[in-house]
Amino acid sequence: MVGRLNVIPIGPVPPGLLDSLAASLSELLALQCMLSDICVDPAAAYDISRGQYDSHLLLPHLEDLARANNARVLGVTEVDIFSSVFTFVFGVARLNGVAAVISLHRLRTSFYGLPEDAELLVTRAQREAAHEIGHLFGFTHCPDRNCVMSFSSAAEEIDLKSDRFCALCQSQKN
Ligand SMILES: [Zn+2]
Ligand SMILES: [Zn+2]
Repeated sequence: MVGRLNVIPIGPVPPGLLDSLAASLSELLALQCMLSDICVDPAAAYDISRGQYDSHLLLPHLEDLARANNARVLGVTEVDIFSSVFTFVFGVARLNGVAAVISLHRLRTSFYGLPEDAELLVTRAQREAAHEIGHLFGFTHCPDRNCVMSFSSAAEEIDLKSDRFCALCQSQKN
């Protein structure tokens, strides 16, 4: 898999936000990040009983797109996603896989009844994306709270970590 990452919106996502994300990830991950002109419809992943979208139904389609384009894929969505036992997830990726999904739904301050903060949203999305892409690189969760591979169960925890992989995680890159 070459060092390319295609950023693909899943449902409507503000294009400016995707541009900022692709630009910051290019720098952060030393990958060539391109905004795709494809848009994936999340409708088939909707779980009517939960009122949320099943992240594991979104992944296979993104993985097909990744293989077809010989690039890793990051899907970005505004819809609320879940993963089996978890009430919600900020993102999902298979270890050493080719595609990841992140949701902006619970990264937005407005979800918590606070005013919108566009800058914080980009920072959170960038960290969550780097974390999931780290899983694609084969990185597991890291005990270093400053490392972007540390697990975050709340948005405020994402705010406490850095944008970066710690030296130990970095050394495991394959
Ligand atoms: Zn993780
Ligand atoms: Zn680490």
